[in-house]
Amino acid sequence: MENLFIKLKALFARNSAASFGLADSSDADELPEALRGKVFAAESSEVDDPVLSVAKNVFGVSHLYPWQRLVVGNILDASADFLQAQNSPQAQDGGGSLSLASNSASADSSDVFCMGRQIVLLPTGAGKSMCFLLPAVMLPGPTLIFYPLLALMADQKRRLEQNGIECVVFRGGQSEDEREENFRRLSAGAKIILANPEVLQCERLLERFKAAKISHIAIDEAHCVAEWGDTFRPAYLTLGKIIETLAVPLVTAFTATASPTVLERVSQVLFGGSCHVVRGESDRPNIHYSVQYAWAKKKAACRLAVTEQKPMLVFCGTRAKAEDMARELCECVGSDKVRFYHAGLSRQEKDAVEKWFFPKTDAILCCTCAFGMGVDKPDVRTVVHLEPSATAESYIQEAGRGGRDKKVSKAILLWSREDLFNWQKYPASSRERVILRFAQSKSCRRQVLLDALGGEKAICSGCDICDSQAAARQESQDWKAPNVFDAADARLVHKLVRKNQNYYSREKVVKLAMEKLNAIDRKVFGLNVWDSSDIDLILEQLEKSGSVYNAGFLWENAMAALKDISSPPRRHPLCLHPRPLSSLLPSLRARAWALFSSWVLPAFSHSARQKRQNSSTE
Ligand SMILES: [Zn+2]
Repeated sequence: MENLFIKLKALFARNSAASFGLADSSDADELPEALRGKVFAAESSEVDDPVLSVAKNVFGVSHLYPWQRLVVGNILDASADFLQAQNSPQAQDGGGSLSLASNSASADSSDVFCMGRQIVLLPTGAGKSMCFLLPAVMLPGPTLIFYPLLALMADQKRRLEQNGIECVVFRGGQSEDEREENFRRLSAGAKIILANPEVLQCERLLERFKAAKISHIAIDEAHCVAEWGDTFRPAYLTLGKIIETLAVPLVTAFTATASPTVLERVSQVLFGGSCHVVRGESDRPNIHYSVQYAWAKKKAACRLAVTEQKPMLVFCGTRAKAEDMARELCECVGSDKVRFYHAGLSRQEKDAVEKWFFPKTDAILCCTCAFGMGVDKPDVRTVVHLEPSATAESYIQEAGRGGRDKKVSKAILLWSREDLFNWQKYPASSRERVILRFAQSKSCRRQVLLDALGGEKAICSGCDICDSQAAARQESQDWKAPNVFDAADARLVHKLVRKNQNYYSREKVVKLAMEKLNAIDRKVFGLNVWDSSDIDLILEQLEKSGSVYNAGFLWENAMAALKDISSPPRRHPLCLHPRPLSSLLPSLRARAWALFSSWVLPAFSHSARQKRQNSSTE
């Protein structure tokens, strides 16, 4: 991501040098009065915000709506992942060409760049064109925008040119010379192609477009696919084929029509039924956000599978983890209630899982971010994140797969000490750091997410922090912010080590903790769910944070613990991994020999020599 933004910044510097004498052409001006109050202003930290920087300097727009950020964020993230996958050694071996269907990229990154196929639902006049014009300036290749009407195309062309942005138009009835001129301008750096689907029915033109290495396809008024495709605009039904032929990784379809039949049809025609639906809304009041601290997160997810409402989605960081999590859940709640879903499944397998999940009321689906059906399951009650999403934008969308029926749905993020270690590595101003702020927040979590999208103020309709603050107020108690060291599993293991300072070896600690945690969870699951690898995971994190350490007794290799689990680690953490006696023997032997050869031997030979001399003189 970082790399992409560096490239984008360089690109932006180039573009802004060519004088963009922009009038105030912002989409915000098209906004209905009712929406204007929701606009948020740009913060000063533009250096950290290349998107806002481009909006301001290229388009003269000083504010972006949360939904614009959601869509632009998705496009840029998917592009970054695509470029990364393309530059990976495997992809380069394969000649560097990579389409969405290709498996040559690493498995888990391809799950991420599946996010690049979206249907965006935005009300008319909500600032749609910024969603594809901003990325158009920032992406490496040109952006192809489909419009249904020549009038719309001409209008967009006029507005772009007014603002000094070069674009080319492909439509019916153009001469060979006009088209050649268009391609010449494209190779000279024109960033935007305006076209209608009919013009791309020509094979030869399609080949030329393919050679132009288009980065992003935007389809305006995508409901035309469903409404006109079967009657007088059959070319709309070929868009899926065109996307496939051009092998463009990023495709965004915009529509104001949200009816499930239209969405289903658009998703089928353009993406073969597999895409993400992004709705133009950032705060969903019926979603209750909370963070649960657990250091052995898979076990915590198993508990949630029993205690929380279903249907449930469990988002996992990788394909392997999704499968692994599904296996563990099968043991806890029964194999008839659990399935997994990721981009590595075949189309038929995905269809089968979707069909299975859709009518179920007690099912759990373990998935990667590749999950996001064309038509949402409306009654998902709980969305658990085993691993945090990369950014606030993706977290909001994934959490938003719950409660489409407007009833309350819970979004629960599982957070461990290991996550804290990993997420602290991102620079403080990065978009990834928002997730860390969200997980460690001491104030409303909903507000943390909305701040990341530009600072829309929320009246919190439910998050664990606001809830616990309200409860404390009601009981007139002091409120203490929870933190990652409050995780019950980690506390139990820490307490065990502390109570038996210098007494148990690591192996014994693992065994004892496993017994204790199994005894607790047997009451929930009726079976032993903890194994030694779970406790090892917790112990590793405790050792890494310095609150449990090796006490260094030669005979026992015993463990000790600091008084408080969350107190800062000892300045010189006592990590004397004691050497067993056998490893000391060679050095003892070497020392003994040195002593013997430097003192005993010479002395002996000296006295022998003297004896010999004495006897010879006698
Ligand atoms: Zn709140």
